[in-house]
Amino acid sequence: MATSEQLFTANHLLASVPRKAYLGMLGKLELVDLAYGQVLYEPKGVIDHVYFPIDCLVSLLTAVDKRRTLEVGMVGNEGMVGMPMALGIGISAVRALVQGGGVAMRMTAASFRTEFRNNEPLQRSLFRYNHLLMAQISQTAACNRFHESGARLARWLLMTSDRMRVNEFLLTHEFLAHMLGIRRVGVTQAAGLLQSKGLIAYSRGKITILERKGLEAAACTCYRIVKDLQDIAQK
Ligand SMILES: [Zn+2]
Repeated sequence: MATSEQLFTANHLLASVPRKAYLGMLGKLELVDLAYGQVLYEPKGVIDHVYFPIDCLVSLLTAVDKRRTLEVGMVGNEGMVGMPMALGIGISAVRALVQGGGVAMRMTAASFRTEFRNNEPLQRSLFRYNHLLMAQISQTAACNRFHESGARLARWLLMTSDRMRVNEFLLTHEFLAHMLGIRRVGVTQAAGLLQSKGLIAYSRGKITILERKGLEAAACTCYRIVKDLQDIAQK
């Protein structure tokens, strides 16, 4: 069983806080299991906790109309869910949906407010992460408009794999259609194309990455642009 200190450092944002500062935070963090499909916040909903993912993945979705949503960002072990709190806002603009079940450390909004005010290293880490999340969201906006669905699906699978550190995910066509903002038939075509090239295997809602280098070549440039920014910021 991992200690709470080991779990703490499994989230890169928390790990970037110097040891003295993070020891002071440990007592305020609680380990929670997040289930696939769980909604952490709704648009205009109150943020009651912030979450630091360990091996789960959270999608940030914006509403297009009553039926449709579109993923505008994703948060894994590199970041925190609930970034408006670091800007003094206690309300979410997006739906935060768990798209990969796993564990996270969470802190109540009240504890976070106090901690953020008094913990300068945490502030610096969150400002850097906010920059990266904004870059990811900006790139996703361009990606959704200009890149075709096969290349976007490849990018999405790589981003998911990086954050969950697995090569296999359970996903329905419907779920992917919501993530990518395309129709289910478009998902079938895009997944079929990647499968015919031997890059992924897809059956009964399970996607397996078979050939990572090939998938990187099939992904749009957005994957590399965002990943390079993240690598630079974490140096
Ligand atoms: Zn793209």
